Amino acid sequence: MIKVTENFRKIRDLLAKAAADAGRSAGQIRLLAVSKTKPAAAVLEAYAAGQRDFGENFVHEGLEKIAAVDRADAIWHFIGRLQANKTRSVAQHFLWVHTVDRLKIARRLSVQRPCHAGALNVCIEVNIDAEDNKSGVAAAEVADLAAAVAELPRLRLRGLMCLPAIRDDFEEQRRPFARLRALMESLNRSGMQMDTLSMGMTADYAAAIMEGATIVRVGTAIFGARE
Ligand SMILES: *Cc1c(COP(=O)(O)O)cnc(C)c1O
Repeated sequence: MIKVTENFRKIRDLLAKAAADAGRSAGQIRLLAVSKTKPAAAVLEAYAAGQRDFGENFVHEGLEKIAAVDRADAIWHFIGRLQANKTRSVAQHFLWVHTVDRLKIARRLSVQRPCHAGALNVCIEVNIDAEDNKSGVAAAEVADLAAAVAELPRLRLRGLMCLPAIRDDFEEQRRPFARLRALMESLNRSGMQMDTLSMGMTADYAAAIMEGATIVRVGTAIFGARE
C-alpha cells in the first residue's frame, strides 16, 4: 500500500525547499498530481490531504476517474497525447490541457468547449530537445502556433509545457527548462500574455523550479511507481 498522504507531505516540503533554493516563494509553484494508472482511491487520499490539481494522460481513464472522484473543486488537467477524435470529452470535462501542439486540436477544443463553462486553459507543448519520438511543436514554430491559439475564443493560452529528454545531472537538467522559459519570455515581449511554465516531474522538478516552473507535474513521488 502506497502512503499517499505521507508522500504528499514530503513532496510539498521538497517543493518548498526547491523554491527557497531558487529564491522563489512556494506559492508561485503549483503542484499537479499526476494520477495516471492510479485508482480513484489514491486520488481521493491526495484530495483529503489538500491536493486539488490532478493530471491525467489518457482520455478514457481520465473521464472514469473524474466521475469516480466526483469532487466539484478538483481541477483536472489533461497532459497526454490528444487525438482529434477525443477532443470533445476533454473540452467538456477538463479545465486545462497542457499538450496542444497543433492548430487543428486547438480549434476543435475551442469549438467544443461548452458555453456554460469558462474558457479552457491551454499550454502549448514544445518538443524542447527536438526528439524524433516526442510530441510537441518545434521551438521555431511556437510563435505562429501561439498567435493562432491566442485568437481562439473559447481557449485561454496560459503558457508552454515541455517534457525534455532524461538527464541525470542537475545542471544539465536545467538547460531545456531555461530554453522553454526564454521562449515564453520572448513571446511575452512580443505581446503575448502567458503566465505558465508547465515543466518538471519527479526526477527533475528542482531544476525546473530553478528555471521558473509555475506548474510541476509529479506522479511517482506522490503515488508510487506505475505498473
Ligand atoms: C507521467 C507524467 C508525469 C509524471 O511523471 P513522474 O516521473 O511519475 O513524476 C508528468 N508529465 C507527463 C506529461 C507525464 O506523462
